[in-house]
Parts: sequence; C-alpha cells; structure tokens
Amino acid sequence: MSEQLAGGVGRFEVVDGIGVIEIDNPPVNALGANTRAALADGFTRAAGDAAVRAIVLICGGRTFFAGADITEFGKPMQEPNLQQVLDMIEAGTKPVIAAIHGTALGGGYELALTCHRRIAVPSAKVGLPEVKLGLLPGAGGTQRLPRIVGIERALELITSGKPVAAAKALEAGMIDALATEGNLRADALAYARQVLAEGKVPQRVRDRQDKVEPYRGKTEVYEAFLKANAKAFRGFQAPLNIVKAIQAAADLPFEEGLKRERELFMELMMGSQSAAQRYVFFAERQTTRVPDLPADVATLPIKAVGVIGAGTMGGGIAMNFLNAGLPVTLVETSQEALDRGIGVIRRNYEASAKRGRMTAEAVEARMALISPALSLDALGAADLVIEAVFEEMAVKQDVFRRLDAVARPGAILASNTSYLDIDAIAGVTSRPQDVLGLHFFSPANVMPLLEVVRGKATRPEVIATGMGLGKLIGKVPVLSRVCHGFIANRVMTLRSQAAQQLVLEGPSPQEIDAALYDYGFAMGPFQMADLVGLDVIGRGGNERTLRGDLVALDRLGQKKNGGFYDYDENRRATPSPVAAKVIADFAAYKGVVNKGPLPAEEIVARLLYPVVNECAKVVEEGVAIRASDVDMACILGYNWPVFTGGPMFWADTVGLAKVVAGLEAMGIAPAKLLADKAAKGERLSA
Ligand code: NAD
Repeated sequence: MSEQLAGGVGRFEVVDGIGVIEIDNPPVNALGANTRAALADGFTRAAGDAAVRAIVLICGGRTFFAGADITEFGKPMQEPNLQQVLDMIEAGTKPVIAAIHGTALGGGYELALTCHRRIAVPSAKVGLPEVKLGLLPGAGGTQRLPRIVGIERALELITSGKPVAAAKALEAGMIDALATEGNLRADALAYARQVLAEGKVPQRVRDRQDKVEPYRGKTEVYEAFLKANAKAFRGFQAPLNIVKAIQAAADLPFEEGLKRERELFMELMMGSQSAAQRYVFFAERQTTRVPDLPADVATLPIKAVGVIGAGTMGGGIAMNFLNAGLPVTLVETSQEALDRGIGVIRRNYEASAKRGRMTAEAVEARMALISPALSLDALGAADLVIEAVFEEMAVKQDVFRRLDAVARPGAILASNTSYLDIDAIAGVTSRPQDVLGLHFFSPANVMPLLEVVRGKATRPEVIATGMGLGKLIGKVPVLSRVCHGFIANRVMTLRSQAAQQLVLEGPSPQEIDAALYDYGFAMGPFQMADLVGLDVIGRGGNERTLRGDLVALDRLGQKKNGGFYDYDENRRATPSPVAAKVIADFAAYKGVVNKGPLPAEEIVARLLYPVVNECAKVVEEGVAIRASDVDMACILGYNWPVFTGGPMFWADTVGLAKVVAGLEAMGIAPAKLLADKAAKGERLSA
C-alpha cells in the first residue's frame, strides 16, 4: 500500500522492510519548498515505522533532484529549509540509499551525499556545478565530497562544476554502486538488503577522515592548484572561495567546516558576480523567445547545407554543420581557393584528433561530408545556403542574384555579412522572404554566438529555423534586426573608437590594455588590433587615421614590424617608442592635448560607458528584443567577462546615474532609454 506524501509530491511505501520514498515533482524534482516538505514527511514516516529497516530515496519523472530551486535564491527559504532536511536524512539510524537517475546536480547531489549510500544507473550524471552560477555548493558539498573523493579530486570537480557520468563517478567514489539501466528501483531495493546484511551502522560521509586528514595544514596544495589554474580562474571570485572551503574540510572539524562553507557561500551569494552569472544563466535561456512569432510556427527541415566562400569564415561555418553530421557543399571561385579552404578544415580536425578530442575515423567521416564545387549550380538541392564571400555589397548582390536562379524554391538563403544591409541583399532576389543574416563570430567553429538577422521581409518560418540552428550546431542564437553591424559589432565598435581617442589624450596603449585586462577581457583593444593586423582592421576610407599612420610605416601588428607594441621573436610584447612617437604626432595633427595618465577605473569608464550607451540604443530601436540578448551577444561574441553580466547588467551594478553623469562629462548624449531608466531609478537589464 503506498501513501501520498505531503502536498501530493510523491509516495511512501514499505516493501519487505525497506521504506521507499519516491518524490515526484515535475519537471526536474527541484528542491523547492514543496519537495522539501514531502521529503521531511517521507523521512518522518520511515523513521516512525517499526517495519522499516532501511530506506530507498528515489525520484519519479526524468531525473533525481536536479538541484536547488534557483528561483528561491536570494530570498528567505521557507521551512523546512534544505539544511534541516539534509540533517534529518543523515542523522537517521536506518541506512538511506539514494537511487539516482537523470542528473543529480548541485543541491540534488549534496542531498545524495547526506544519504548513506548512492546507487545510480549508467546514464546518470552527478556533480556540483554551482561555480557556473558564481557560487559554491552551500549545503555541505564542499565538506562531504572531499571526504569521499579526496582533496585534489574535489578541487577539480567543484571548481570546474563538470557533471560526471555514473561509471566515472563510481571510479571516483562519488557513487557506491551501479544499477542496471531501467531497473533502478529493484536494484536499489536489492542494494538496501545487501547493506542491511552487512549489518553495519549507517555510514555517514561526514564521519570519514581518511581522505582529508593527510591534507591538514598543507597550504601548498591549494596554492599550487590556484597557480595551475590562474588563467581559467582569473577575475572569478567563486573558485577562490571554493578552494578555501575545501581547505576547511581538511583543516577543521566537520561542523566548523560547514560554518566556514556557509560564510564563503553567503559572501558569493551577496556579491555582484553571482548575481551577474545567475542573470546570464537565465539570459541564455531567453534568447530563443521571439514575442512576435506565432507559437506554433513550423521550422523548416535542414538536411543539406551550402556554404559560399571557403575563406576564414566559410570554412569555420562549414565545420559547424559537418560536426552536426550534415553534408555541406562548399563553393569557391577557384580550385586553388577551394583546396586551401578544405585544407584548413582538415588541419583543424587533425589538430583536434592529435589532442585526443576526436578519432582519425571521425576526421575522415567529417571530411567525406564535404562536396567541393566551383559553381553555384551545385547548390540546387541545399535547404540552407550561407554566403561568406568578401564584405562588399556588389559582390554579395551578384552572388545572391545567381543563387536565386539555382536554389530550390523555399530554401533559406543566408548571408554572414558583418555590417551590410540584409534587406539590400534580399532585394536582388525574387524571394526576400527566404533571406536572412546568419552572423557567425571568428573563429566560426569555436565562438558560441550566432546572430540571426531578420530582414524586413523574412518570413516567420525562416526566422524560427534560423533561431533553431542554435540547437543544431551548439550555439546561442540572438535575434537582431538590420542595422550597421547588428548587435555585437555595433556596440563594441564604440570601445575601439573610444580607445583610439583616449590614447591621444595621454594614457598609453599598455595602460589602456591593462585596464581592460584587469576588468576581465582576455586582451585590450591595442593588443587585439596588433593580433588581427592593423592593415586588416584599418581598411577603408581615405581619412588619415592612427592605424593608417602605423601601417604607412609598415607596422602591421604581430605579423610584421610590430604595431602598437614591439614584439620579440617569441611574440612577447614590449612598449614601442616608435608607436609612442606615431601616437604623439597624430595627436598633434588632430590638435589633441595630452592630459597625462588616467586611473584604470576612468579608463574603463571612458571605453565602456559609450558601449553601454549604444546597447541602450540597440534596445530602444528594437534592434534587439531585450537587454539580456545584448549582454549575451557581448559575452559570447566578444568574451565580455561573464562575471560582470555583460555591459547592461554591469551598468546596473555601477549605477545608471553614475553612467549617465560619466557620459555627459565625456560630451556624449545618453540614449533616451538609459536616461529614462536612470531618472526613474530602474535597471537597464531588468
Ligand atoms: P575571406 O577573404 O577570408 O574569405 C572570403 C572567401 O570568399 C575567399 O576565399 C574568396 O575566394 C571567396 N569568394 C569571393 N567571391 C566569391 C564568389 N563569388 N563565390 C564563391 N566564393 C567567393 O573573408 P572572411 O573573413 O571569411 O569574411 C567573409 C564574410 O564573413 C564577410 O562578409 C565578412 O564581413 C564576414 N565576417 C567575417 C568575420 C571575420 O572575423 N573574418 C567575422 C564575421 C563575419
């Protein structure tokens, strides 16, 4: 006979002396208030029932407890709180077996750690991914996990946040037994009987000392770990707190370790980084919501892809589809260009194979999906064609005119243009409703952003299919309307412009780059310019520019004679006296007065407030659907540091009134949206 648990969130029954608590709170059994109440109810019943000798905790639906209920974060937790439930499970005198399927992550796995044994099906995954939200496992995870997997493994697991598949988890000690797929309940019952037969008192993870004791007082272990991961952790607070918490697991008695964990958790929870990362977590899941598309809009099947142009972008774009197992017809203008492009793709795959990321057979399988072609005629069967030829309107229009003549009716015709008007490209075809922009970021096989640009005439099915490509090729799609540069390029241009101006006023390229690096960018604008090549980004226009002056001296960047920096044979940068002179001369030509150095905080404001302002315009004009899409575009397209939440969330953290005042002091008129929100005391990113 099974009985309903509190709130109807599951059932309790006794099977041959084993109490089975089955929680069922769709969709993912998140540990919200009603789940906690049902758990408390179940464990109270099991404890009070003399017929029950051991307990199996199992979940209905598609997964074990997938984690805390993150919508409760930052709010007071309703009783029973998670800690109370965990104490109840762990302290019980009857052994509790966690029976895991799906994903036991975060609070879900922390709960499993308070059970006395853990059994999982092979397809299950366990882990503590809190770091990805700028947090640490705050319900004992940092104290219990090291006690079963050891300090060094725990450091890896909790700072990376990676989920671990059941077989590996068994090897590491994260679970104690594997069940047969599809037979979890029966196997868990059998395992419970086995545990009873062993006749031991319930084993509590908290009581184990063997794995942590040898590390007591060994500060060098943590220092070495931080040093080895300095690059990955740079700017992030959570990994540092995680390391401190794990150190506490070795250095302190369990209860004191828990207290330390709590303090370190609260510090993160109250900080701006976790707020930003939680915002980003939701922002990423929002981008595919397009309010003006009918809910039931059909997406078009994509079975065969064409890519026009096998240069820097075309090759990378093609790889995305090859990786997804789709055949790609790759069109170039000459055999030589075709061979070169395909050669680059092959070398990329072979490099991955060398690093053990794919097998030699997989390389060949992907290469075999490419059909090289020298004529657009080869694209007649493609469902989706992406053009990645030179960034010139006349060239693109010519390609689209010819493509229009050969593509099958209803095929999606896309351009990877960075700046050009999609409507003007669509306008040369007889089917502008099937044309859109699919804007990838370089390297196109790596960067996670895909800007989907809807033209005036693009039909809903084509927009929906463009947005759906994100899932197919593993990218985050952000929808944009047509404007110069769309979202990410348009707003980030303001940063380079500001840098070009500021460097004339006193701060050196290295001071400006250092300020942005310390803010969290991988590199500053001048390092970036030198890397890309001054001749490449400086092209176009007859006006005298700073970059043009450097190019005139044949200073092209890292590839030739240095650029804003000088480089040694190992490409190590040093400040360049030649560049300094070029900058001073150009400042004199422009009549800009040198006002001397600036503090880093002001450099950041000078470069990034204008970006924030442009972001506000992009939202105000309806180019982006919502502020969080703009933040996602900057984070995923330009590596804007995720722990700031992107430009708009960051502006909210700084305070909009301060941003507005800063812009005005620079002589820049604040966007209406920004000024309005600042005046009303509202947030841009809300
Ligand atoms: P690229 O010069 O490396 O490659 C362009 C390729 O197109 C060349 O191989 C060329 O032979 C080929 N091509 C030219 N005309 C053609 C035609 N009629 N038919 C077939 N092939 C033709 O340029 P890229 O950097 O790959 O840029 C391509 C497009 O992608 C441009 O619109 C650019 O703005 C855009 N884009 C570039 C980047 C970037 O970082 N490089 C990023 C995003 C978007």
